[in-house]
Parts: sequence; C-alpha cells; structure tokens
Amino acid sequence: VESIPPSRAPQPIDREWCVAADAADPLAPLRSRFQIPDGLVYLDGNSLGALPVAALERVDRVVRHEWGDGLIASWMQAGWMDQTLRLGDKLAPLLGAGAGQVLICDTTTINLQRLLTAVLERSPRRVVVTQKENFHTDLYAASGVARMLGAELRVVPRAELAPALDDSVSVLMLTHVDYRTGEMHDLRKLTEAAHAVGAMALWDLCHSVGAVPLALDDDEVDLAVGCGYKYLNGGPGAPAFLYVAARHQARLDSPLRGWLGHREPFAFALEYAPADGIRRHQVSSPSILGMAALEAALDVFAEVEMAELREKSLGLTATFMDLVESRCAGSGFRLATPRDPQRRGSQVALAHEHAYGVVRALIERGVVGDFRTPDIARFGFAPLYIRFIDVWEAVERLAGVLADSAHLDGRHVVRAAVT
Ligand SMILES: *Cc1c(COP(=O)(O)O)cnc(C)c1O
Repeated sequence: VESIPPSRAPQPIDREWCVAADAADPLAPLRSRFQIPDGLVYLDGNSLGALPVAALERVDRVVRHEWGDGLIASWMQAGWMDQTLRLGDKLAPLLGAGAGQVLICDTTTINLQRLLTAVLERSPRRVVVTQKENFHTDLYAASGVARMLGAELRVVPRAELAPALDDSVSVLMLTHVDYRTGEMHDLRKLTEAAHAVGAMALWDLCHSVGAVPLALDDDEVDLAVGCGYKYLNGGPGAPAFLYVAARHQARLDSPLRGWLGHREPFAFALEYAPADGIRRHQVSSPSILGMAALEAALDVFAEVEMAELREKSLGLTATFMDLVESRCAGSGFRLATPRDPQRRGSQVALAHEHAYGVVRALIERGVVGDFRTPDIARFGFAPLYIRFIDVWEAVERLAGVLADSAHLDGRHVVRAAVT
C-alpha cells in the first residue's frame, strides 16, 4: 500500500485495508513512544492525551535529581527559571509561530481572562463577539471579564459571526475546532474579518494544537490560548499556553501582576515594571513537575511533520465515518462532524438518541470515547498513537453494542459526574 487516503480505500473498507494502511503509515513507529494499555482502543486523546513514555523518566529525573539533589540551585542550574519561555519556543513551531511569542503558564481559562482583559483595557471599544456553541468555560471567562470591565458580550450562533462584527467590536474570541462537533473554523478568514472592522482575533486552540497544522504568524492572528493535556499529551492539568503576536507585545499589559512578570524579579523593587516581551504575562513560579511532563510530550512532536500528521488524522476520521456508515447503517446515528476535510479537526461526533448509553457500553468493551450533552458520542483520533486497526476495532465493537442492544441497558440511564 503506497498511500493512506481513504479516497483510495476499497468501499466498504475491510480489515485488511486497515492493516495495510498501518503498515504504510510513516508515523506508525511513534505509537511506541506512548504507554497505551493492551487491548484498549483509546479514542479520548482529545480530552486527555496518552502518557509519553519519556515523561516517566523525565519526571523521575526532575523529582529525584533536580529537586532532590539540586534543591534551590536547580532554578538556575536545571534551567527552571526560564522554562516558561523555553518550552514556549519549543511549542511555537506547532502553532506556526516564531520565537518569543508563546508563554507556557496557568490554564486556558485563566489565559483567556488575562488576554481579554489586556485587550479591553487598551481599547475604547466595549464589545466582545463570541459563538453560542463555544466551550462553556470560554463563555464564563468572557462573561466574567465583560462584567468586570463593563463590556458587552455578544454571543451569536456560528452562522451569524460575520454579521456580528462591526466597529464597536474590540475582540473576536473563538474556538478553532468545536469541542462537540469537531467542526473547524476558517481561522485566517475570520481573523481577516475581525481585522477588517478594526478588532483583534483571539483564538482558543485547545482542540487544534497537536492535531491540526497552524500558522498563527502567517494568518496574522493577534492572540491565542490553548491547553497542554489534549493532543499535546502533557498530562492531567498540564500547564497551558498563550500567544501574543510580537507586534502587540509592547502595548498589552498583563492585568495579573506578579513578580515573575516584572522586569527584574530579583531586584525586589516596590514599583511594578513589566518585563519586555511575552514574559510580562507570567505571574508566578511555574509548576516544574508539570513542565517536565509537558516537555517530554513536546519532544515527541520534534520528529513529526505536521502535514503528515494532518493527513493521517484525516485518514483516521474518514475511515471511522465510512465504517460507521457501512456497518451501523439504520441504527439511528447522525454524523455531526463535517465530511469536508477543510472543515473538521481530528474527532468525529455521532449524534444518537442513546449516545450516553452507546459511550458507556463501548467503554465496557474497551473503546474509550466520551459523551457530550445533549446527544453526542465523541471520538478523538490522536494521530501520534491511534492506528487504522484501532478504528476498525472501534467500529467492530460499536456494531456489537448495537447488535446486543447493550447501549439500552438500564445501568446507563444515570450519568456519571465526568462524562
Ligand atoms: C479543554 C478546553 C478548555 C480547558 O480549559 P482549562 O482552563 O485548561 O481547564 C478550554 N477551552 C476549550 C475550548 C477546551 O476544549
């Protein structure tokens, strides 16, 4: 097999084709860099990425030697002090960003509040536009900032974003890939639309980074945020990131002032003076143990060509959609993810009346996806470690669940706290 694109796959796709597609996959060797339980088909790397094996060794080394032996000297000797910037520069190529524009810090929600506040403080305009279907934490963050600064949060449906932009708008805040449906915005076009009315574009890249090629500098994005624990595989609660385009850095102050954003933290000056560049957005001491795991995770990407990753990702999601259509026809699924490869991220969302039961029954059979309200069974395809044979297995077991009506089992009526 020369090529993966499912456009060349036999219809219906069979098991042999999936085996052959894995054999031809240039990224296949990278799966061994992750610890993945035997027999498990893990389609939830878009929620919590798998453990990079190198993170075990790295966290162990940081704990035992850098912390245990080096103690306070490690802030300098082990490079702890500038990790927020160094790892930011390591992440930058995945964002299509030049050096000095990415900081690793805090969480996505906090970074959203920080950057929104920074923009609104500088802008005479009082309107933030965002999308009704956005992830709830983004809407909470924006509503908090709007309340604090007396701004208006204009929340509109996806189809009405462009008409919502006018010269009262300070910032357009969007999530690039929809967490529920996997639908992807045209980032460049919407950024241009924001600029056309004199507004900034702030992108949440939680479901894009590590799965979809990004070109923040070329697309003239102003600001961006995202998390470290989804496709980046940085571990539970991994530090998040923020991006501020170089052209805005001198003008935007951090609303959160802390000693590590100061020009000279160890001058212990009583007056606050922000550092130059992206470091002014840092507030406090970074979580070094979290950074250690994240760095090991980022190192895996150093060997990856994003275009190759994207091609595999699209192959996996297309294969899954094809197989569900051919093998689960007539079982009440509606595809909620766009078929158009330009318009989807790295996940597939299937709407179903009993989506929660489908997800629970599949987990019992070793296929981990997740449920998103009101009726979405969501499957993420992390192309670093998911194989075409996993896609085959997932649909095989899904067909089994449906055949046995396992998704209708009474045990799946009450929802767990984490879905
Ligand atoms: C996962 C996700 C977040 C996560 O927020 P945290 O503050 O890091 O917990 C935020 N926004 C979107 C769109 C997400 O998908």
